[in-house]
Amino acid sequence: MQASEYEFLRNVIRFTRENNEWRMRRAINLIASENVMSPLALKVYVSDFMHRYAEGKPFKRYYQGTRYIDEIESATQEFMGELLGGAYVDLRPVSGTVANASTFRVLAGPGDKAVIAPVQAGAHVSHTKFGTLGALGIEHVEMPYDPDSMNVDADKAAKLIEEVKPKFIVLGGSVYLFPHPVKELAPIAHSVGARVVYDAAHVLGLIVGKAWPNPLDRGADVMTASTHKTFPGPQGGLIASRDRDLFKAISKVVFPWFVSNHHLHRLPATAVTAVEMKLYGEDYAKAIVSNARRLAEALAAEGFKVLGEHLGYTRSHQVLVDVRAQGRGAKAATLLERANIIVNKNLLPYDKPEDVKDPSGLRLGVQEMTRFGMGKDEMEEIARFFKRVLIDREDPESVARDVAEFRSNFLRIHYALDERELGEPVTSLLDLSH
Ligand SMILES: *Cc1c(COP(=O)(O)O)cnc(C)c1O
Repeated sequence: MQASEYEFLRNVIRFTRENNEWRMRRAINLIASENVMSPLALKVYVSDFMHRYAEGKPFKRYYQGTRYIDEIESATQEFMGELLGGAYVDLRPVSGTVANASTFRVLAGPGDKAVIAPVQAGAHVSHTKFGTLGALGIEHVEMPYDPDSMNVDADKAAKLIEEVKPKFIVLGGSVYLFPHPVKELAPIAHSVGARVVYDAAHVLGLIVGKAWPNPLDRGADVMTASTHKTFPGPQGGLIASRDRDLFKAISKVVFPWFVSNHHLHRLPATAVTAVEMKLYGEDYAKAIVSNARRLAEALAAEGFKVLGEHLGYTRSHQVLVDVRAQGRGAKAATLLERANIIVNKNLLPYDKPEDVKDPSGLRLGVQEMTRFGMGKDEMEEIARFFKRVLIDREDPESVARDVAEFRSNFLRIHYALDERELGEPVTSLLDLSH
């Protein structure tokens, strides 16, 4: 090996180690789409399954050698279905976007129309012609937005659905504080022959923890999700439905249209997370929502403009802050990062699409810090850090030291199984020392 190759590898290893250290021990991560796995999930994540293929469905594969993954995959899908109050579940989509692609493609084809939630109410890029819908040749029509309720305007959306007669509608999103009107719009959609897709990528953990309405109880025909946002599992996707025929039709295209290998090593870790969410998910989801509200209140008390005050700020894991008075989103997010606080800049409902590079706001999510055991006092401390960086203009590097010190008291992952309860220690499941 050349000296330059050693150098390259040493850097890769060093950056990986430093990122771990930073993200897991020193930084306050408030990215709303991220989370961390439990220690037990982590132990089962690295296994021989990461080397394997299992095309097709459990017990009906196109591959030999799948007897163990067949058992795990079918049982985990069944368990997830029970957590969702009864549903057929497919865990093969390797991400939420792949779950959306498979679902959308079965419900509509090129030239067809879909009516989606407005971008101001949080629609994800995969719901739009700029993302997955566009790639599938499906046209999108946005529902109207109601600034007062910070939500879909349900009355106007109902009229639009009746007019457009789409193949399907999409609710659920990436940036939203309040549940979308599934119950109100599902009957209208069904009356014109449209299916209702609910994208629960962000809120799957809240749904399982019963802190957010389950869209399948409210008329959604299909739910898609990611398994790694408020549901704290490995990165992956999910499709759930109570309609057997519809589920079968979608499940039939996941492979071979959208995945070949489905990253099998995710599945044992998803199973561990599902069990942990059954045991601790309600406590976890409740703590997330109450922390989000507390963070919003504390930021407002420190002098920030927090959205949704008249509505109680939030019912999800997210908080939206308008930082125009502090120099807009891009600058604020950069300063906070220098202080070891990781957030993303975000368009607010009144921003224009062209503001995307420097929007008015920040989107904050408290699910990961809640998992590390933070509660109301800590939300108040975080709000004070925000004030020091963005209002008092303290040197971010000096705040960074205090943030790291504060964060070092919250290293244990909560709402997770103590593996001693299993009755036997779980050693790493992959031993490659020959
Ligand atoms: C994050 C997100 C997705 C995409 O999920 P991936 O798992 O990253 O592919 C899809 N829809 C919504 C609403 C999201 O927020």
